[in-house]
Amino acid sequence: MSLPTSSKVIIVGGGIVGCSTAYHLAKIGHEVLLLEKASLTSGSTWHAAGLVGQLRSNANITQLLGHSINLYDQLEPETGLATGWKMNGGLRLACNNERWTEVKRQATTARSFGLEMQLLTPKEAQDLWPLMDISDVVGAAFLPTDGQASPSDITQALARGARTSGAKIIENCAVTEITTENDNLVGVKTKLGSISCEKLVLCCGQWTRDLAATVGVNVPLVSVEHQYMITEEFGVPSDLPTLRDPDRLTYYKEEVGGLVWGGYEPNGIPWAVDGIPEPFDFQLLESRYDHFEQLMELALPRGCEAIIERTREFHA
Ligand SMILES: Cc1cc2nc3c(=O)[nH]c(=O)nc-3n(C[C@H](O)[C@H](O)[C@H](O)COP(=O)(O)OP(=O)(O)OC[C@H]3O[C@@H](n4cnc5c(N)ncnc54)[C@H](O)[C@@H]3O)c2cc1C
Repeated sequence: MSLPTSSKVIIVGGGIVGCSTAYHLAKIGHEVLLLEKASLTSGSTWHAAGLVGQLRSNANITQLLGHSINLYDQLEPETGLATGWKMNGGLRLACNNERWTEVKRQATTARSFGLEMQLLTPKEAQDLWPLMDISDVVGAAFLPTDGQASPSDITQALARGARTSGAKIIENCAVTEITTENDNLVGVKTKLGSISCEKLVLCCGQWTRDLAATVGVNVPLVSVEHQYMITEEFGVPSDLPTLRDPDRLTYYKEEVGGLVWGGYEPNGIPWAVDGIPEPFDFQLLESRYDHFEQLMELALPRGCEAIIERTREFHA
């Protein structure tokens, strides 16, 4: 596609956020051009684990995530592209009274948005997730409308939906400069030429901070390394709910008859604080087994020894 000289709205970045922005703006009739420096999904999106959970402590975010669920429900029939979306539900465990109080509060919030959140006994939770040990579980919440998806496939479907509504998407077109005149936005310079616009939306993920800083906008964002494990296939049913175990800092989801599992260590390692190396498309980081060990130790008492034994791949 040849480079247009102007567009009312330019979106920079073709990850899930940029493609979703293009999809929604094009649907309501905006003239949209999305520019991606490499290929769609080549940033963080291609290797996200794909858990889709709606419950957050912020009410607005919970509502936004509820919208995502409705969207994912209709995206595949609308675009004809598979999204990997399945509504297999999401379990959240509470392993102490404070967490249980928090979970009950979240259930009240969820219900106020019309989300059907069920509070379960440990045994009821285990019935839904038989692989786990429940000796330290006080209670659990189950959101039947949570689920999981393939982030890359969702992104491609959003891109197709955006194109169908008139959006233009150009890959291999890095924005090298944001142009302004008297502090007003004029457009962008790219490797392929200049384009003027009225509105510019930066959806560059971890690249956003540096691009925004070139026009004096502070985006306080720094990447942190994140690792997850992939097990071999061992007969995990495809309708197994996703599991979040916040007191043990870990999460789990079914994938091709095995599990993907990872976690959020309290001492996460900041990455590329002084700038992201170029190129960094479809790339992974080095595995750090020593750093992941703390999550292994937390996961073991959940009865996940069997899961860990079957882990075959480390993904960072
Ligand atoms: C290992 C891992 C597991 C995860 N698991 C989950 C999960 O289970 N559930 C969940 O919700 N989230 C998960 N996430 C988070 C999720 O991946 C991110 O929140 C999401 O992908 C961010 O999307 P994005 O569009 O903002 O950024 P990106 O996907 O990084 O997209 C930004 C795009 O901008 C492009 N770009 C940058 N600069 C320019 C420029 N100057 N010109 C043009 N293009 C440019 C890049 O090439 C890139 O394609 C996970 C992340 C990781 C790393």
